[in-house]
Amino acid sequence: MSEPSYVCGRTDSPLFYRTVGDVLRLAAEQWPDREALVVCHQQVRLTYAGLYERAKELAMAMLALGLQPGDRVGIWSPNNSEWVLTQFATAQAGLILVNINPAYRTVELDYALRAVGCRALVLAPSFKSSDYVAMMRSLLPQGDWAGGDGVRSGKYPSLEFLIQLGGDLRQGFMSFDALCEAGRTADPSSLEAVEGHLDPDQPINIQFTSGTTGLPKGATLTHFNIVNNGFFVGEGMRFGPQDRLCIPVPLYHCFGMVLGVLAAVTHGATMVFPSEAFDAEAALRAVATERCTALHGVPTMFIAELDHPRFREFDLSSLRTGIMAGAPCPIAVMRRVIDEMHMREVTICYGMTETSPVSFQSGVEDPIDKRVSTVGRVHPHVQVKIIDAEGAVVPRGSPGELCTRGYCVMRGYWEDPERSAEAVDAAGWMHTGDLAVLDEDGYCNIVGRVKDMIIRGGENIYPREIEEFLYRHPKVLDVAVVGIADRKYGEEVCAVIRLREGASADAQEIVEFCRGQIAHYKVPRYVHFAREFPMTVTGKVQKYLIRQQLEQELGVERARTA
Ligand code: AMP
Repeated sequence: MSEPSYVCGRTDSPLFYRTVGDVLRLAAEQWPDREALVVCHQQVRLTYAGLYERAKELAMAMLALGLQPGDRVGIWSPNNSEWVLTQFATAQAGLILVNINPAYRTVELDYALRAVGCRALVLAPSFKSSDYVAMMRSLLPQGDWAGGDGVRSGKYPSLEFLIQLGGDLRQGFMSFDALCEAGRTADPSSLEAVEGHLDPDQPINIQFTSGTTGLPKGATLTHFNIVNNGFFVGEGMRFGPQDRLCIPVPLYHCFGMVLGVLAAVTHGATMVFPSEAFDAEAALRAVATERCTALHGVPTMFIAELDHPRFREFDLSSLRTGIMAGAPCPIAVMRRVIDEMHMREVTICYGMTETSPVSFQSGVEDPIDKRVSTVGRVHPHVQVKIIDAEGAVVPRGSPGELCTRGYCVMRGYWEDPERSAEAVDAAGWMHTGDLAVLDEDGYCNIVGRVKDMIIRGGENIYPREIEEFLYRHPKVLDVAVVGIADRKYGEEVCAVIRLREGASADAQEIVEFCRGQIAHYKVPRYVHFAREFPMTVTGKVQKYLIRQQLEQELGVERARTA
């Protein structure tokens, strides 16, 4: 009989019982003069000693404002040095960092601020088409400005501080730079007192993820979750202080702040940020000029780099490793990354926010066919089982839902015990909603999703959320949002709409309705109209049939993936 689909990772290297702040302090003690942070678009360079000092000053300033351990501090900004400083400063002060996607617009920001009761929000003034300050102001009626640099609002009872990264200050906003400046002369005793009581099991980070149930949920992660995941991801790439990691992926996601920042800091490696948001040429230039040894990206980013017209002009010979993750990784792209980008030790990671995030990673010495066609083997200290619809473990080689257990499983969804219990069962298993197959040697293949989430260029899009929004359109009777295969983004958003009796509308009208209201990447690329949806006997829309039919009509194919 075949073995059951259950695996447990190696345990020869112990888990660290450390806080995120400890990790930076230890790095500063061990590698004080090594470069920690390079931010190309800001011309910022900090050593480990420098990064530690700056983060400590910011932590002291935040405590001096009156913020208390356990308070939530949102950050709504593209990648920059301030983001990394805020990540460490909040952790040192025991504050819970709340990552807010820079593509969010007012509806989503409003939800995020309320859902977790942020007491402070660190925000960039603007980025691309998003004027963050104007959006924040539009959420607060006139009378809500407390005068000076504070906020008082019945709408957001917890919110007090809006901390702006550069730009002209409007009423109610305070300057991040001034706060850092104040930290230089702040009394260190309050930070020392707080640090003395920090516990690695305390929540330190909330990231929004929607699952299948519509509105985003705040996955709550502890120091212990992300310190260890970052460390073992770095181990998986054989990281050391000589490594220089190019991070073009966003910091608001685990890919940036755990697989990027914490993997580097736990190994004394250098973090190199090429740009505020992904830009293929900036990433290639950063690798070449900073002599990076590692490069991260979702598959679409690697495709954009490989296909860039100036690709051949950049010397990428310093590259050795890096991570491709976040969405199914096409085998052909993996081969090109190894051959043309010199990333002979590139690894694939699989995971999800709720598991801090990584649970599978291919090893640098795994056979080449396994390295390009699977997500590797289970991570140290992590257990995984694959189950059928009844919850029974399936034999090796059979598909089923992947469940994860161990140190990496989140604390739960913020103040939502019901949905936490739906995701993590009484035995501690996180039900991922992903369909996977484990082979006899423990290599894993992700074959689909139980839930019908769309992944567009590495961004997770939850059809239900867009459907909920489109239901607000007066002419929309029913709507099904599905992901359609796309060569560039992996998937594109398609909304299929049933209009109300007698109503007429065109695709343009629907797209206009979404623009500026929901994040740009959620605005449907395709809008189709239908009289009926294919339904199951129990009344559920059969999205896979809609998807198949549309893909056929559009003549698009799904890429073969790991
Ligand atoms: P997130 O919570 O944003 O990290 O998204 C997690 C989801 O991304 C997983 O549940 C998977 O569906 C998908 N995912 C992440 N990495 C991979 C991968 N290497 N291959 C296939 N799907 C992946």
